[in-house]
Amino acid sequence: MADKAELQAILDTQRAAFTASRPEPLALRRDRIKRVIALLTDHSQVLCDAMSEDFGNRSPQQSMITDIVGTVNFAKYCLKNLDKWAKADKRHIQFPLNLMGSKGEVRYEPKGVVGILSPWNFPVNLSFGPLVQVFAAGNRSMIKPSEFTETTSEAMRQLVEEYFAPEELVVVTGGPETALAFSSLPFDHLVFTGSTETGRKVMQAAAENLVPVTLELGGKSPVVLGRSADFAKAGERIAMGKMMNAGQICLAPDYMYVPEDRQDEAIDGVRKAASAMYPTLLDNDDYASVVTDRHFDRLQGMVADAREKGAEVIEVNPAGEDFSNTNARKMPLTMLTGVTDEMQAMQEEIFGPVLPVKTYREVDEAVDYINANDRPLGLYYFGSDEGEREHVLGRTISGGVTVNDVVFHVSMDDLPFGGVGPSGIGSYHGPEGFKEFSHARAVYHQTKVDVAGLAGLKPPYGEKTDKAIKRQL
Ligand code: NAD
Repeated sequence: MADKAELQAILDTQRAAFTASRPEPLALRRDRIKRVIALLTDHSQVLCDAMSEDFGNRSPQQSMITDIVGTVNFAKYCLKNLDKWAKADKRHIQFPLNLMGSKGEVRYEPKGVVGILSPWNFPVNLSFGPLVQVFAAGNRSMIKPSEFTETTSEAMRQLVEEYFAPEELVVVTGGPETALAFSSLPFDHLVFTGSTETGRKVMQAAAENLVPVTLELGGKSPVVLGRSADFAKAGERIAMGKMMNAGQICLAPDYMYVPEDRQDEAIDGVRKAASAMYPTLLDNDDYASVVTDRHFDRLQGMVADAREKGAEVIEVNPAGEDFSNTNARKMPLTMLTGVTDEMQAMQEEIFGPVLPVKTYREVDEAVDYINANDRPLGLYYFGSDEGEREHVLGRTISGGVTVNDVVFHVSMDDLPFGGVGPSGIGSYHGPEGFKEFSHARAVYHQTKVDVAGLAGLKPPYGEKTDKAIKRQL
């Protein structure tokens, strides 16, 4: 565990190296990204095993898909686009300077040292994903991964030591105290992925040093199931997005809004699909455990609270397994109907396999509900009615949208990924991510002509100046 002075020393070393080596060739950025790719591919097994150990159980195949393949492909996308992104933008210069040889451009330059604070749910992806774009923009980086995935964090620390010099990249491990010290360092930029609650603290700490932040937070991402949707197919996709990583995904569908007269059909679609993908749960390695006892108890409490306040609880337990006598922290998909705003399940981000179902007569009831609550990270609309789709999209605000599926927009490398308001600030992925981690530096080249003198704008001011001002207005 590193204390503040040690962290500051690492930052000082990185910043000194950064300053001394500017300007660095793009080839060096490429080399760093390639080393990330090599680290992840050469040691994918070690990292997937570490994630399984940290979760109690998590399918290595799932980890390969979400944490290794997803990150490596994003790194390759960055390699492919780096030259294009790093080009300066020529900008328009106003008349008459444009005719006198003045020129303007924006250069996308590295900021310096970027801090990355990552969560436990996709510990490798959410550390190395931002990193490859931080590297693409020419920065150096310090990463502080989550203390909840200790084995994975330690594996990342050791591997990074093998592949990178400490003045390029360092992983520091430690608990909330280290995280707090980390977030109060005078970085050139800080990327935080985690809960909205912690995001607030991170932004406060960063504000002390006016460190710009990218906050990738959470929230309650709604599904709006339109009447025109294929309910069976929608059920399949919702079940897949909700049950992957046992619902511990920032973009997991949090709750579902369905037409009142078709609630049973909607629930049936999800139930059938969940049962087909996970016919058993307890000894099924494909189905992840809830990460810690604290989160497991929180989810159990949430269901008990809903039941107590009048919700109907529908457990999808296809093999009729007994979950009461296990310490595997596995929980079946649990749907809740008849939910109200007084229930915990409708007040906080669920982040687990619990799916409240709300009903509407007119789709605007869903729109109004979404607008009355915090702006979500994701919004999902299912249906073939284009008019209704555009109505729902046009009247709501969310970080991103997937139409006719859930979660998927985050996997599209060329689309920016981020929240809005309480679900986040800023974004990465796509060209937007490169810009997020770059400083857009305006560079203006003045003409040789004495413009101020010619225009009468030079002191001593007089009649000529007044005329020039009038003319310009
Ligand atoms: P968390 O907020 O508890 O922790 C995230 C990180 O913050 C950890 O590394 C932790 O050590 C650090 N931290 C804890 N206290 C801190 C403090 N006072 N100051 C600075 N840093 C501190 O989040 P979590 O439980 O690890 O992850 C789950 C949350 O993350 C959910 O809300 C989820 O929606 C969100 N999330 C968002 C995204 C996204 O990309 N938008 C992705 C994954 C998870």
